[in-house]
Amino acid sequence: PYDVLVIGGGPAGASAAIYAARKGIRTGIVVDRFGGQVNDTLGIENFISVKYTEGPKFAAQLEEHVRHYNIDIIKSQRAKQLRKGDLIEVDLESGATLKSKTVIIATGARWRNLGVPGEKELQTKGVAYCPHCDGPLFQGKRVAVIGGGNSGIEAAIDLAGLASHVTVLEFLPQLKADEILQKRLFSLPNVTVLTNVETKEILGTERVTGIRYADRATGEEHQLELEGVFVQIGLVPNTEWLGDFVEKTRFGEIVVDSRGQTSVEGVFAAGDCTNVPYKQIIISMGSGATAALGAFDYLIRH
Ligand code: FAD
Repeated sequence: PYDVLVIGGGPAGASAAIYAARKGIRTGIVVDRFGGQVNDTLGIENFISVKYTEGPKFAAQLEEHVRHYNIDIIKSQRAKQLRKGDLIEVDLESGATLKSKTVIIATGARWRNLGVPGEKELQTKGVAYCPHCDGPLFQGKRVAVIGGGNSGIEAAIDLAGLASHVTVLEFLPQLKADEILQKRLFSLPNVTVLTNVETKEILGTERVTGIRYADRATGEEHQLELEGVFVQIGLVPNTEWLGDFVEKTRFGEIVVDSRGQTSVEGVFAAGDCTNVPYKQIIISMGSGATAALGAFDYLIRH
């Protein structure tokens, strides 16, 4: 069996596998796609000590770093179930079962898409999902934020400090964000809030040039000219496959303690699939290191 088996090859999983392997223990990693969400991003400017890099390059370097160590790479495979007996058993979609003394779950998350025309086509050309990552690209420009929950309103407040104007579009008749965030939002001079509206299309060919939406009360359609659209309708953790094997929050995030351990002894988790706040590369890598060291600590005590 493995000492540590990591599931997921994004920043959190890669970091966990490297930290585990550097302890000289038997380490494996189940990788669906090296790099995870990083593959979907173009410019990365907030991975400290690297001024600028691009997603696919970053993903390739993650893989290279993992391959530098004695780590069993189980590639192009997905885990479908965890079970606990004397060891932890990981069933793969291929039908194989792997056994390990500890497991680190690092299956990440995915942004919920709007599913309107233009969204996919204009991704990285003005359609964005992460204000911490892409906000500065819209300095002095007009942007829309789709979604009036906490993440949408936080994004709108954040962007209002950079963009010339921010329009918030919420599907429901009221914003769902906390009162205190709404108060802050409404105190800002360069923000417009549209409620009870449905986004129909993101407009543009080379770059985003606008958005088309319908007033849900009247059905009347309108267009707004702008340069950026931030979609903030939810980040969904990739944890459905775990069922109720480990404790999760109501959002499906795996609950971990300060060492990355879940509600099940010997099972750790790291990165965007957990309840650790702020979903960023540098944060998920840190939590991958924490989980690996937590797993090592567990191994030397059992
Ligand atoms: P992920 O990157 O989601 O990786 C999880 C991996 O697990 C994936 O490879 C997935 O395929 C795999 N997996 C899922 N289910 C299974 C399964 N059942 N079995 C096996 N494998 C599985 N952050 C920044 O810091 N800076 C940025 O500029 C930035 N830009 C971004 C731009 C975009 C468009 C997006 C979407 C995100 C961006 N982020 C950025 C956020 C950053 O990418 C994430 O915080 C980070 O990738 C999380 O790492 P992770 O390893 O926890 O999860």
